[in-house]
Amino acid sequence: MTIAASSSAPRSRPFGVAFAPATVTARWTVADGWSELRLDPLSDLSLSPATMIFHYGQAIFEGLKAYRSAAGDVRLFRPERNAARFQASARRMSMPELPQETFVAAAELLVDAQREQVPVEAGHSLYLRPFMIATEATLGTRPANEYLFSIIASPSGPYFSGGFDAITVWATHDYVRAAPGGTGAAKCAGNYAGGMIAQRVAAEHGCDQVVFLDAIERRYLEELGGMNIFLVVDEGGGPTLVTPPTSDTILDGITRASLLELAPDLGLTTAERRVDLAEWESGALAGTVLEAFACGTAAVVTPIGRVRHRDGEFTVGDGCAGQWSARLRERLLGIQEGVVEDTRGWVHPL
Ligand code: PMP
Repeated sequence: MTIAASSSAPRSRPFGVAFAPATVTARWTVADGWSELRLDPLSDLSLSPATMIFHYGQAIFEGLKAYRSAAGDVRLFRPERNAARFQASARRMSMPELPQETFVAAAELLVDAQREQVPVEAGHSLYLRPFMIATEATLGTRPANEYLFSIIASPSGPYFSGGFDAITVWATHDYVRAAPGGTGAAKCAGNYAGGMIAQRVAAEHGCDQVVFLDAIERRYLEELGGMNIFLVVDEGGGPTLVTPPTSDTILDGITRASLLELAPDLGLTTAERRVDLAEWESGALAGTVLEAFACGTAAVVTPIGRVRHRDGEFTVGDGCAGQWSARLRERLLGIQEGVVEDTRGWVHPL
């Protein structure tokens, strides 16, 4: 499976290719702190080659979506959690923290000005990409004294062109995404650059995505390059939704947190515990690991049907999308798109 391309799915917009013609920005300096938010036409940035972002990589970002409900209204999903995570990423990268209310106000301002950009097609949304970069031009190795915060928006279709088809993953023993004490829990640009080689190796093995293992023992499941991971396990006591606990090596995904909260409504118990790759394989063979899936804002819930690694490969369930993955996806999307009642106050109407 590949990232959606317009030629393979003519009625589905590719993910993250087209951009709404507006942007919201704010600038920060040591002397003055944060400026007011500005709404402007989208334009290219002009930066000195000495700008610190190009050298020391102080860059963080977020990803959230504006959805159009069946009734036509526009809404965000738990934007305050993105705002809090953006602050946590900034702290880790020695960057200034944007007040959470400013982050949410920036998203509201952009989406409100670009309402017509929120697609009406099912499974589509306006993907918002808030980011912050160091803009001071100096080669001294220290946190920058100037930053730009901006949000751009992309009317997008599904992240995976196969929609809800099961993907094949490559569990890598060669590369790690994050190490204890490192930056894995921050949504910083370098984490993604460092993971790309593993994603390329995964593709060479015929896999859609890479699964990273822990840095110390290279045994325990961590997450994918841009998604958290779940298994549905039943060892006789009923189905349990299992996911590795968040730590300084795993991103605290908002989809992950939401699914853990929704699961009991569907009759699933939950467990946050470490999962050994060998346990996943033996459980899949024994039939106790019923399903596996990846999740995130872009990918929603994407079933994992097959796993390859340096010592072999195995199938999860029957290799296709499982019933629990389907139910969780339907419930989450239903809340986001206004088909299922939001009893938790997760929907942020605009
Ligand atoms: N892990 C990583 C490394 C990610 O980049 C993402 C996407 N933000 C996720 C997990 C899923 O997070 P969320 O559900 O908040 O999109």
